[in-house]
Amino acid sequence: MEADHNISNRAGSLDRGSGTLNRETLEGWLRETDEARLEELRAAADAERRRRVGEAVHLRGLIEISNHCERHCLYCGVRAPRREVSRYRLNSEEILACARRAGQLGFGTIVMQAGEDPGLCLEDLARTIERIKVETACAVTLSLGELSRGELARLRQAGADRYLLRFETSDRDLFQRIHPPSRRHEHRDRLEILAWLRELGYEVGSGVMIGIPGQSYSSLAQDIELFHTLDLDMIGVGPYLAHLDTPLGRDGQRLSLDPSRQAPVCVRLARTVVALARLVQPNANIPSTTALATLDRAGGHRESLRWGANVVMPNLTPPRYRAEYEIYPDKAGIDPVGVDSAGGIVATINSIGRTVARGRGDSPNITRRRESAPKPLQTEVSQ
Ligand code: SAH
Repeated sequence: MEADHNISNRAGSLDRGSGTLNRETLEGWLRETDEARLEELRAAADAERRRRVGEAVHLRGLIEISNHCERHCLYCGVRAPRREVSRYRLNSEEILACARRAGQLGFGTIVMQAGEDPGLCLEDLARTIERIKVETACAVTLSLGELSRGELARLRQAGADRYLLRFETSDRDLFQRIHPPSRRHEHRDRLEILAWLRELGYEVGSGVMIGIPGQSYSSLAQDIELFHTLDLDMIGVGPYLAHLDTPLGRDGQRLSLDPSRQAPVCVRLARTVVALARLVQPNANIPSTTALATLDRAGGHRESLRWGANVVMPNLTPPRYRAEYEIYPDKAGIDPVGVDSAGGIVATINSIGRTVARGRGDSPNITRRRESAPKPLQTEVSQ
């Protein structure tokens, strides 16, 4: 019997935390291949996107501040053991120049991303964030991997507004297999870090890769459910792209599940996950990811924006470093005049009748959370 995952049944049901988009119906959608039904899903996600976060697309300037990394993640092209990667680290002045450029381009946010780089000085970074917050009106998002609670607190105090840390997969065994422990990080639990981020007052972003060898359709359905349970403010999802000079890239075939269970790397599934993310967590800011634009060269950001996404992150890393931040091969946006360039993205956005947003583009969740938070007790007399 065909799984009952008709979206006309769901009508707002997940707003109340339950309803027809449960794990089974989510899995039904992930396995769906009928174009007409998928178009129904796309239209529902697009309508929900319009209702919740509007027509305007937020541009976030991505600055890949360091490709040094001490981790051995089996899928990632900048993993520590790759001797052939030429490593770079931007200094404060270089980061500030990128941030000023983001401000001049009218972007409301800069996103600083890096490998887990022990050479990145926390105090320097904190001071750079402080300067960015003084010199530009941009919100600051960080994506620096598994930091300690103290480090996250310091960066928040310096003015960082948001943090992105994908949980990558909710299948614990698979997570452990692809993230071998390192000396500094024996038992770090990404869900615990996401909870710290929330406590520290960050806007919290997470997400997964789609089609990791060993990732089943049903665990992917569980991942999507978790987007809702974690009440995420930002959700980043993209296909897993094999990097042939990594253990997972080389051995993917052997580690894959039986084809009836293995979530595949394909544009259709990646778009479906974007749409389901929008439906389960409708107020979230959802980017059209570079990984999806890389796999879907023809559809690019345009299609993700039609499947529920409302954010694009043009790459502002100085061009001479871009090719070195090669987490997977043929990454879109390395060519500064290619599909990922700021000008190209604005043209794409306009071509589908959408507009470029102004301002920081905080998630509507934040406003809701602030309004519903109990008012702090007045413990100090203001002077
Ligand atoms: N060091 C940071 C930033 C990593 S890059 C961190 O670990 O959070 C950001 C994201 O790129 C990762 O979370 C992962 O989901 C994605 N990524 C890494 N390697 C990839 C690959 N081979 N294919 C697709 N996405 C990949």
